[in-house]
Amino acid sequence: MHKIDDQLAKVTARIHQAATAAGRNPQTVQLIAVSKTQAAQALANAYAWGQRAFGENYLQEALDKQVQLADLKDIEWHFIGPIQSNKTRPIAAHFSWVHSVDRLKIAQRLSEQRPPELPPLNICVQVNIDDETTKSGVSLAELPVLVAAISQLPRLRLRGLMAIPAATNNPAQQRAAFAKLHRALESLNLQGYGLDCLSMGMSGDMEAAIAEGATFVRVGTDIFGARPKASAGQ
Ligand SMILES: *Cc1c(COP(=O)(O)O)cnc(C)c1O
Repeated sequence: MHKIDDQLAKVTARIHQAATAAGRNPQTVQLIAVSKTQAAQALANAYAWGQRAFGENYLQEALDKQVQLADLKDIEWHFIGPIQSNKTRPIAAHFSWVHSVDRLKIAQRLSEQRPPELPPLNICVQVNIDDETTKSGVSLAELPVLVAAISQLPRLRLRGLMAIPAATNNPAQQRAAFAKLHRALESLNLQGYGLDCLSMGMSGDMEAAIAEGATFVRVGTDIFGARPKASAGQ
């Protein structure tokens, strides 16, 4: 078996086990293979195994890989990195999902620039769940106003919330942060938004995220191996 096959099988088994332990149907947790800094061949290997959803952080790198993998028609591309406003047009045209929207201006541009022949762009709003000054994401306090505005945009389909909590190895702390995001989603849904996605959990904390209701886990290292340091902070 290819190494990536092996890793994908392990990650999938972990998802299955965490979901079952939480009394959830494993089918309700979707794996996004985070392929930033990985060569197109690594994605092709994961695709051959059966993986379809891929997460990319860096626009130009992602577009290059999309060209190289153009034959794989049913890949689902998720943009998960910080977004500069001058990059919204290609993001709107070349991705099915964007998980990292944290400002109205970005959402407005994505809506205006989503090509008319494509279905509405699926959006998760990124929340700065631990109020870290260095992190992207809207604060919990500002979330309701941002969600209200984004939900009005015609070419976007607001699906849910995303977060990258402060790194910790402590499972209780991991769960507490994910629980906060889940509560934020529920309180928005009490206002009728019908959000169905919680994008949370990475290699080191996916079990905690699944226990707290994750519907997407975004896993890179445990599928593809450690990323080279130099490009990891690109
Ligand atoms: C890199 C990245 C991941 C994957 O992290 P790993 O620890 O490698 O699994 C998930 N989400 C986002 C937003 C990332 O940038």
